[in-house]
Amino acid sequence: MRTRVVAGNWKMNKDLSGSRELAQAVARAADASPSVEVVISPVNIYLGAVADTIRGSKLKLSAQNMHWAENGAYTGEVGPTMLKEIGCSHVILGHSERREYFGEDDALISQKVRTALAHDLTPIFCFGETLAEREAGRTQSTVEKQIRGGLEGVSSDDLTRIIFAYEPVWAIGTGRTATPEQAQEVHQFIRSLLSNMFGTDVSSKIRILYGGSVKADNAAELISQPDIDGALVGGASLKPADFEAIIQAA
Ligand code: 13P
Repeated sequence: MRTRVVAGNWKMNKDLSGSRELAQAVARAADASPSVEVVISPVNIYLGAVADTIRGSKLKLSAQNMHWAENGAYTGEVGPTMLKEIGCSHVILGHSERREYFGEDDALISQKVRTALAHDLTPIFCFGETLAEREAGRTQSTVEKQIRGGLEGVSSDDLTRIIFAYEPVWAIGTGRTATPEQAQEVHQFIRSLLSNMFGTDVSSKIRILYGGSVKADNAAELISQPDIDGALVGGASLKPADFEAIIQAA
């Protein structure tokens, strides 16, 4: 049985007091749903304040990005030990916005995945096709390329420590959610790909989240699909009542 995960990616939103307030509300919701792994991912500079706010609750803290080196001359970057020290247990890697606006490619993402694992941070590893790729019939080949590339050099022993997140780019922030059937079709493909790569024993244990316009009113149907193990939520994670409803749906 795979523990469900509901993760909120706040992206570049909320100020300091708003982050604390939202974190407090989500911590209460997380404690009320002990069977679900609940994660929030605030803006980097507020991670410490949010860690203080949620201390004692079961809510987990994630960064939205991380550098692959421990430390060094990398102006503007934050390394894995720093994130751990401030209270992070998870880190989102390979988000489509990082790929699109910051030029992150599969090779860089795999370096970050390996760094996160080496520091005992749980990577939330994101991938997904664009609308043009879907319309050209290249959904599966795109997802396969991103998964194989992002997992380069990762040992099969570490695989179940990674949370996978399928986020079709055309569904992110657009209000256009993949239907449960569309999402399940890709999730099933991902699990069978992982089974081919690492064996069924491993693939059956891996959590694969869906992300892209997940809302309070569509979460239950998405998460009830056999290969969907939770949600990575953007916009709706900024609204306490909506995010709480998604946690309950899981
Ligand atoms: P939305 O839920 O706003 O579509 O964002 C999804 C996402 O990118 C989460 O990482």
